[in-house]
Amino acid sequence: MKLTHSISAIALALTTLSTLTAIAEEVVVYSARNEQLIKPLFDAYSRDTGVQIKFITGGEGPLMERLKAEGQNTPADVLLTVDAGNLWQAAHTGLLRPIPSKTLQDNVPAHLRDPDNEWFGLSVRARTLVYNTSKLKATDMSTYEDLANPKWKGRLCLRTAKKVYNQSLVAMMITEHGEPQAEAIVKGWVGNLATAPFPDDTKAMEAVANRQCDVTVVNTYYFGRLMEKTPSLPLAIFWPNQNLTNKNAGVHVNISGAGVTRHAKNPAGAQRLIEWLSSDKAQNLFADNNLEFPVNPAVTPDKIVAAWGSFKPNLINVKEAGSLQAQAVKLMDRAGYK
Ligand code: FE
Repeated sequence: MKLTHSISAIALALTTLSTLTAIAEEVVVYSARNEQLIKPLFDAYSRDTGVQIKFITGGEGPLMERLKAEGQNTPADVLLTVDAGNLWQAAHTGLLRPIPSKTLQDNVPAHLRDPDNEWFGLSVRARTLVYNTSKLKATDMSTYEDLANPKWKGRLCLRTAKKVYNQSLVAMMITEHGEPQAEAIVKGWVGNLATAPFPDDTKAMEAVANRQCDVTVVNTYYFGRLMEKTPSLPLAIFWPNQNLTNKNAGVHVNISGAGVTRHAKNPAGAQRLIEWLSSDKAQNLFADNNLEFPVNPAVTPDKIVAAWGSFKPNLINVKEAGSLQAQAVKLMDRAGYK
């Protein structure tokens, strides 16, 4: 009798506890992606699962500093940010933990996730050539490397070397060509510049449209936004490095992505959220909003994005953008790329 009583008391206590847990389950996200991009996703996840998402947004630098300072007291379960360089940095400084997940390995191509499973790409951004269609034909262009050829003298515009996107591009060129050759290429670019580097991708494309130069290198979602605003601009996308013998060669791609924090209070919930973000259910919500490409190859891109045509991406693991970032920054400095 006494025993039955205590068993039912325990059972009641367990039920109460699990009910509370079900009500209370939440995942806390530190996001370098802005609220307008992530809120619709998190709302959809909450509708789907009943799990509440709390998030704060900020620059990736301050968010990573905050994670570091909070240490094991951090409320954050997930870090969400752009650029493999940043994700690599977070993993390298011990802010993330490995999540061996079959779902993520199936949904995210191997070159777009950490080989040690500490972060996973969730959308793909392609950094490609955009040219003035009244000055060039597609057949005039071939590769990033070709833009170092003196035939492009005074015809090239670039965004500043201070932006991580260009540091990642150069880091990936170091993996492909080795440092001396990559440096010669970057020097060639600098020698071909029509004008000083621009503070952002949009200004570089506007210079191309205004005939200040013929061609530039930008992330495609900036092209998408600019053409949505001003469809009459004489600009088009060119996919470089498509027909090379090197089987890894292709368009430079980078990711936005996420990892579970080292001191997550709800690591299982964090993992489920990241898995969901990689699923066909969420991929269009995640990518289309910013005119990016889904990371999951089973998912079709947004109509505007699909209209740019398909391309072969560079297949070297994007983690190199992080591991070689410091080397790339020094190389660009030596080459006079400001
Ligand atoms: Fe951007």
